[in-house]
Amino acid sequence: MIAVDFALDIAFKQVSKSRLPEVDFNHLPFGKIMTDHMFVADYDGQEWKDLRIVPFANMSISPANLTLHYGQTIFEGLKAYKTDAGEVLVFRPDQNVKRLNKSAIRMYMPEIPEEIFLGGLRELLSVDREWVPTTSGSSLYIRPLMFATDEYVGLNASKTYRFIIMCSPVGAYYNKPVKVKVETHFTRAVEGGIGYAKTAGNYAASMLPTQLAVEEGYDQLIWTDGKEHKYVEEAGSMNLMFVINNKLVTASTGDSILDGITRKSVIQIAKEMGMPIEERKLAINELIEGVKSGALQEAFGAGTAATIAHIIQIGYEGIRYELPAVETRTFSNAVYKEMENLKYGRIADLRGWMMTI
Ligand SMILES: *Cc1c(COP(=O)(O)O)cnc(C)c1O
Repeated sequence: MIAVDFALDIAFKQVSKSRLPEVDFNHLPFGKIMTDHMFVADYDGQEWKDLRIVPFANMSISPANLTLHYGQTIFEGLKAYKTDAGEVLVFRPDQNVKRLNKSAIRMYMPEIPEEIFLGGLRELLSVDREWVPTTSGSSLYIRPLMFATDEYVGLNASKTYRFIIMCSPVGAYYNKPVKVKVETHFTRAVEGGIGYAKTAGNYAASMLPTQLAVEEGYDQLIWTDGKEHKYVEEAGSMNLMFVINNKLVTASTGDSILDGITRKSVIQIAKEMGMPIEERKLAINELIEGVKSGALQEAFGAGTAATIAHIIQIGYEGIRYELPAVETRTFSNAVYKEMENLKYGRIADLRGWMMTI
């Protein structure tokens, strides 16, 4: 269990009327409905201050706000779950603080102290606890965000920043397996670039290539390396993992791949299950040959939104390759079950991954 025992000075302004009664928890769109409150802190160039929980509402921003022009902004994504006993659990939030601060360093932004992130999150979830859904497969998606607040159109780093945590109740993300297209023209990230940071530019650059794939009937892309477009990188919001000849194979993380918390959790569970793991370069050719020969047994995306998203089709150079039926995927189905059981508190948290609110 992750303990949060710091006392923070957080101001609180409660909503005058909760929006909770208006929400249809049986039909939750992803990321559109926000809870009543948000946590906010401001960086004045020296320190984080004015910690506060306030009603979720629009903010006023200068058209000269630096983020709008140069994209000095980073975010995180994690989830809270409600157990059958009504307890609220958050999955590995300590890992999100670490990664947010890695992103902050790369984007030349101030780091956020762990006690402000975790303490603010704990308070916010206590206030908006009733918003954590109980319907099957649903959860509370948590979106921490940090962005530049200087009003200045000159090109340099902002001195001031705002940190916000907002939350949105969500249903199951992908309720059906996904079709992915291997991208061999556009590039998401390169060595020396910002691919490992959860920063706006990476996602902005992926909009057009993704839309083109969607028009061809795919759900997502398999990004390949920016140099040769020969090796599997990731899916842009999920890391990619494969079972080939009974081994778990996934690209090693580096500059161009986001170090996913779901990915590292899957790897740890695989280790415990005695599954051989290979973190290495995986050529698209090996993947396609594996589909043809039957060596490729499972393929899935790993990320907070979906946990595990089975891949049923891979498109490469105009050919669509069908993958083994989802029911045959022993490993990913077992890992998924283990993670779901843990998140909903149905099994003991022996790894110390969960934070209790
Ligand atoms: C967030 C994200 C992932 C998945 O990371 P998790 O911590 O597992 O949610 C993978 N790739 C990219 C580019 C991401 O932004």
